[in-house]
Amino acid sequence: MKNEERLKGWAVNISRLIVSATFIASGFLKAVDPLGTQYKMQEYLGAVGLAGLVPDILTLAGSVILSALEFTLGILLAFAVHRRLVSRLLLLFMGAMTLISLWLVAFNPVSDCGCFGDAVSLTNSQTLAKNILLLGLTAVIARWPLRMVRFLGLSTQWILVNYTVVFILAISALCLYYLPLFDFRPYKVGADLRALMQVPEGAEQPTFETTFILEKDGEQHEFTLEDYPDSSWTFIDSKTVMTSEGYQSPIHDFNITSLLGGDDLTDDIINNPGRVLLLIALYLGMADDSQFDAINRIYDYALAHDIPFYCLTASQEKVIARWVDCTGAEYPFCHSDATTLKTIIRSNPGLVLLRDGRVEGKWSHNALPSEQELEAYSPSSATRGYNTMAKVILWYLIPLLLLTLADRLWAWTKWIKLNRKRYIIYQRFKKRRNMRKKIVAGNWKMNMNLQEGIAMAKELSEALKADKPNCGVVICTPFIHLASVAPLLDPAVIGLGAENCADKAKGAFTGEVSAEMVKSTGAQYVILGHSERREYYNETPDILEEKVLLALANGLKVIFCIGESLDEREAGKQNEVVKAELEGSVFNLSADEFKNIVIAYEPIWAIGTGKTATADQAEEIHAYIRSVIAEKYGDELAQQTSILYGGSCKASNAPELFAKPDIDGGLIGGASLKCADFKGIIDAWK
Ligand code: PEP
Repeated sequence: MKNEERLKGWAVNISRLIVSATFIASGFLKAVDPLGTQYKMQEYLGAVGLAGLVPDILTLAGSVILSALEFTLGILLAFAVHRRLVSRLLLLFMGAMTLISLWLVAFNPVSDCGCFGDAVSLTNSQTLAKNILLLGLTAVIARWPLRMVRFLGLSTQWILVNYTVVFILAISALCLYYLPLFDFRPYKVGADLRALMQVPEGAEQPTFETTFILEKDGEQHEFTLEDYPDSSWTFIDSKTVMTSEGYQSPIHDFNITSLLGGDDLTDDIINNPGRVLLLIALYLGMADDSQFDAINRIYDYALAHDIPFYCLTASQEKVIARWVDCTGAEYPFCHSDATTLKTIIRSNPGLVLLRDGRVEGKWSHNALPSEQELEAYSPSSATRGYNTMAKVILWYLIPLLLLTLADRLWAWTKWIKLNRKRYIIYQRFKKRRNMRKKIVAGNWKMNMNLQEGIAMAKELSEALKADKPNCGVVICTPFIHLASVAPLLDPAVIGLGAENCADKAKGAFTGEVSAEMVKSTGAQYVILGHSERREYYNETPDILEEKVLLALANGLKVIFCIGESLDEREAGKQNEVVKAELEGSVFNLSADEFKNIVIAYEPIWAIGTGKTATADQAEEIHAYIRSVIAEKYGDELAQQTSILYGGSCKASNAPELFAKPDIDGGLIGGASLKCADFKGIIDAWK
């Protein structure tokens, strides 16, 4: 099974290699000679009776699109991009091509399919064999497209697709504007026309058969030389067809006839010692006449240097006369075969320089040489083709590589930015949710006698030993419980606090309990500023300020309560009230001292009333309180300050409240008196 799978992988990837190389080559060879491909298309159209019916611009567009399609499909296959789509398109393409080549073999409408431009010429049977092979290979690829090994990540594929299309279209445009980058025709630069026109001695000669049409008694019959009848038959017509081609030299149709006098100048031109300039203008009616000035200057240069100059065209005389009128041409005109002229140069008009019968240079009408350039011109070295190929490959690969690198760099910076953003968000979240201490503190108020309190403390201690809390837990008890409860608690699990302390350090203050005394019981916390103390015992901001200072001075942490009354809430003054309470009693502290303050926001209207602020209401004002602290002490300390919510908090509403980002726990009154209720709230952090 494994071997079978491996075999499939090999089959697909070898097929892919062959098919992609073929498509790249055939697309590229067509693209470098768009006019040649257009002529081939026109030949096909002629074979189906559409010659002259399709405008040239459409056949030219067809030529460019076809070559771009073949090249792009080849590249996409080579890089295994859009594997399923590309393999199906290739199968479709090869199916159509195989049908066309069957037609070629059956009816021979075109002698060379033109698959590879002029670079490789195949007989129709060879084309059919090639296409059947490629069809088979594309079928293998289309059967298991996902077995093609990928070289590129999905994110860079779009660059390859777009750049390949742009590149191949640019190549076509370049070759159309100038001349084909590669010339595979017999008239390429360096070609020795005399040698290419020679027929070697003893070469097979072409054979012909002539058929005669003769008439007798109103009836026509065809005869050959062998069965030619007697003179009672009247000659009507004859036709001669080539029965075997014999040897054909690479150049066999190069004929130049002078317009004036009809002399054959072919031999004179190819045997002329030194330079000859030929202006090749296939059809002058369609030739680009914008460069007539440059052409006339080149003619003047030729005259001045005794260089024969001829304009070779397949146009009729009246068209030539019009050209002369329009451009002021004084050079001599000659007639030549249209196909030959098309083959010599892919530009109308184009300039060809011969030296001793050898093609020395070719120029498109868009890049005609100046007199100086002509004077200094020397043919390129023989390695020109390889150099051009190397340049083309580099022009394809280097920008592709740079674009891919730029894209990766862009993606990388985006990734870094995103991750930095994520990191910052995470840090904020960590600071807000994790670095800040979460606390559930109980405020027993004036409930439970000593025994009840001890029992409750024990029960809670046992419960939290068995089920460790996810937050800090504090119980704030009446003074009389402190010393007895302290030894029952593990301070690492449950903190102990008082509900109040005196605003004096020590001395004759009957009934008062100082911060120092609270601390001496083993307690670590004290609640200050509770609304009940503010309301019933007239604790003003100044008194509270003193109490806070004394508590901190004695090493106690302060749970400082703030909150608005119902009237104030209804008047929309809650923010103002809490800010004033902070400013009145704790904003005199240094930042270091403030680190020991826990804020408890307790709306008075919610305390012991069963009315809870909604989670959103609570969050809004908690966030506001934090912003006020940030204004005073900076964002870092504000983010570290725990802000608890208090006011009818129960196990049922605690999870929703504690889920808010600025609510760091609760100060619990009524629900802290029963272990189960209190534990239920503590568990909200789980
Ligand atoms: C309190 O007094 O601090 C308090 C929040 O009380 P309760 O939970 O009973 O509303």
